[in-house]
Amino acid sequence: MIKLERGGKPDYLTDAKIQHLKNRYATTKTSVWSRKSITKPLMNTCFGKCAYCEKLVNGNGSYMEVDHYRYKDLHEDLIVEWSNLIPSCKQCNTKKGKHDVDINPIVNPYDDNPNEHFIYHCLRIIGITPKGEMSVELFGYNLRDVDARKSRLIIHEKIDEKLSDGLDLYRDYQLSGDPKKLLKSRNSLSGILSACQINSEYSAITSTLLLLNPQFIDLMNKIKNEGVWDDVMKNYFDMALSSSFPVKRDEYSLVKSL
Ligand SMILES: [Zn+2]
Repeated sequence: MIKLERGGKPDYLTDAKIQHLKNRYATTKTSVWSRKSITKPLMNTCFGKCAYCEKLVNGNGSYMEVDHYRYKDLHEDLIVEWSNLIPSCKQCNTKKGKHDVDINPIVNPYDDNPNEHFIYHCLRIIGITPKGEMSVELFGYNLRDVDARKSRLIIHEKIDEKLSDGLDLYRDYQLSGDPKKLLKSRNSLSGILSACQINSEYSAITSTLLLLNPQFIDLMNKIKNEGVWDDVMKNYFDMALSSSFPVKRDEYSLVKSL
């Protein structure tokens, strides 16, 4: 989960339109919030990802559902209230179900800073506040059947493989002196860092797993020492640091000191 900014409500949601949609819902019980004039701007607030787990919901086999942060059957007056609409994947929306956030609050990435509620430790997301703990259990962030958890393991392996490739290319450069090999090694690191950006799927966990990988520190040092660490990579790195989960101890101290 990453911090999101909601921005102002869409022009479409005038007071008159809100009242019209509420009346329509009261009589038809249809999904009056599933209109492009609402879902499109909502999608823009979350970079096309589920606000709760960062799974892509931009149409490539996974579609955005509109979750009502305060459950719609308990709060019919909030069914098209902009601040109550959360873009969600089907899995998170289903798991949240009829959960009553007034009784058991969960982290709302538009209002709360996720980094104050979760830490990462040993491939697990751990809640460190009552809201964080409730979110972890409600969405099952560490359950085997949850897409976000399965992806965590795959991301971990992919990052490790790509870092190994980057280090192999650097060794080829050392052996051959061929500058193209150095640039290939640099570009492979840049590619991995680009996957940590805020608009990438699972950016929080990708950033965390990258920054904690000893091969990353090794390769970054080598690229810096060769003088080919550029501003784009620096920006990527800063974004990865800000997107990453806090960790149990300050395991980032090494990478931050570089
Ligand atoms: Zn989700």
